[in-house]
Amino acid sequence: MREYLQAASDAVPAVLAEVREWVDIDSGSHDKEGVDRVGALVRARLVRAGFAVEIDRQQVYGDNLVGRRAGDGTLRLLLIGHMDTVYPRGTVAQRPFAVRDGRAYGPGIFDMKSGILAGITALDLVGPDVLARYGSITFICNSDEEIGSPGSTPLIQAEAARADAVLVLEPTRNPNFVTVARKGIAAYTLSVQGVAAHAGVTPESGRNAILELAHLIVALQALNGTIPTLSLNVGAVTGGGQRNVVPAEASALFEMRAADREHFDAGRAAIEAVVAGPRIVPDTTVTLEPGAVHLPLAVTEGARQLVAVAETVGADLGLSIQPQSTGGASDGNTTGGMGIPTLDGLGLIGQHSHNPAEHITIAQIPTRLALLAGIIRALPEQMG
Ligand SMILES: [Zn+2]
Repeated sequence: MREYLQAASDAVPAVLAEVREWVDIDSGSHDKEGVDRVGALVRARLVRAGFAVEIDRQQVYGDNLVGRRAGDGTLRLLLIGHMDTVYPRGTVAQRPFAVRDGRAYGPGIFDMKSGILAGITALDLVGPDVLARYGSITFICNSDEEIGSPGSTPLIQAEAARADAVLVLEPTRNPNFVTVARKGIAAYTLSVQGVAAHAGVTPESGRNAILELAHLIVALQALNGTIPTLSLNVGAVTGGGQRNVVPAEASALFEMRAADREHFDAGRAAIEAVVAGPRIVPDTTVTLEPGAVHLPLAVTEGARQLVAVAETVGADLGLSIQPQSTGGASDGNTTGGMGIPTLDGLGLIGQHSHNPAEHITIAQIPTRLALLAGIIRALPEQMG
């Protein structure tokens, strides 16, 4: 795999010049126009790499791209990267792409515009002869990962269903890291309906929705530690409005995370049991509304095969690959949750995603590109 190192080093100036163009366009998840402008550049880059690119049109969020390339082999590979960022319009004007002290800064450069470009560059590095050993290579660039992929999840599910292996180009902070496990996330809105009353004149006729919600919050938070790997957080509360009125309404937003399907399902059942339990404040009505669900990305046999390939390729590059688990979700949760072998965290090396200090480390670009290229070259033999 060392053979790719020199070519990867030679590619760095072009990678930086191109990622600068992508980074210097605001593309927050809610900025359809900005995401579509980035999409036009990414699409042109995929076409240059030999992909036929379909546009998955979206009404609310940016359009998703699906690059396709057919080969003569059998293995069907899916690569995934997202074009949206967490930053609102105007962020680029404040802090555009910049290189300082061997680091390239800019909104979304690390998470993960450079990851998409790293994936495409690695495909270029291995060249058409190797790519032809695949049955098909599909490259999804989606528009809305940072808000849970509401528009792109059906596309990802459809493409993952006909893939044998998935590589997700999310970033990572250490050149030896790849991501094999991510906790699943279940989001909820919990609402309590009580009865309003004058707090001084007829308090006994009121039913305090905030009090009932408070008891529910304590019971929900108490689930932490009762199920392995589970973490539950009540993150927002609203309710009532006036000091002298028994509040008729209160609600909370919370999420539960767990590392594998068994404990994830146990967590969901435990939440439902708390809500179904007896009311502390009589005559209040409680509604639990499930929100977005990301199934856990767990380590399966197929994922272990992908890790083994990464380890072999990495060893040749002087890396000691360390598979990582993280609490954060990505589109890898969707593909891994479906049981499709998924290796994540294959983007470039840097730090501080979702933060103004976000950057990639330039000196670590060649090794990462060579690792990606080596994995892409080895997969048809190892998994085909
Ligand atoms: Zn990301």
